[in-house]
Amino acid sequence: YSGKKTMTSVTESMMNLKVKDFQSLPVVVSENMTVYDAIVHMFLEDVGTLFVVDENSNLQGVLSRKDLLRTSIGSQDLNTIPVHIIMTRMPNIVYCKKTDSLIVAAKKLIERQVDSLPVIHETDKGIEIVGRLTKTNITRAFISLAETHDL
Ligand code: ADP
Repeated sequence: YSGKKTMTSVTESMMNLKVKDFQSLPVVVSENMTVYDAIVHMFLEDVGTLFVVDENSNLQGVLSRKDLLRTSIGSQDLNTIPVHIIMTRMPNIVYCKKTDSLIVAAKKLIERQVDSLPVIHETDKGIEIVGRLTKTNITRAFISLAETHDL
């Protein structure tokens, strides 16, 4: 390999990385779950973001650690507030699809300054959640690229 040849092929394999090859499983809660239960759920599932769905399993919102912390330091009763009151809701959710380029999804994470994107599948019935793409997934892809090219 000349240096130049190697760089060309790294670029090519970078452009070929897809969301579906690096995504994680989504962790989903109901919009009627209490904030208290969502906090417990986030700890037990060991994730930084919960996706909120309606009774038809359609994406309605996103809950981050700080959304839950912000509510916890207020004077509200965490056992009575449902998460739909405090979540970031549609249509303000940034998402990606499993066939999207990982680079495009990574740009969305950075531009919107969020930790994760729901990976969605649109049907005539609504928006279904099929995965979760986090900054950790991007870091894994970065390492796999280095390993593929013996860097
Ligand atoms: P944290 O709030 O714990 O730092 P994030 O940076 O992911 O975590 O979230 C920042 C804010 O953006 C939160 O209010 C959260 O609800 C919202 N958010 C998180 N992910 C998304 C997303 N994919 N689309 C739109 N808003 C999001």
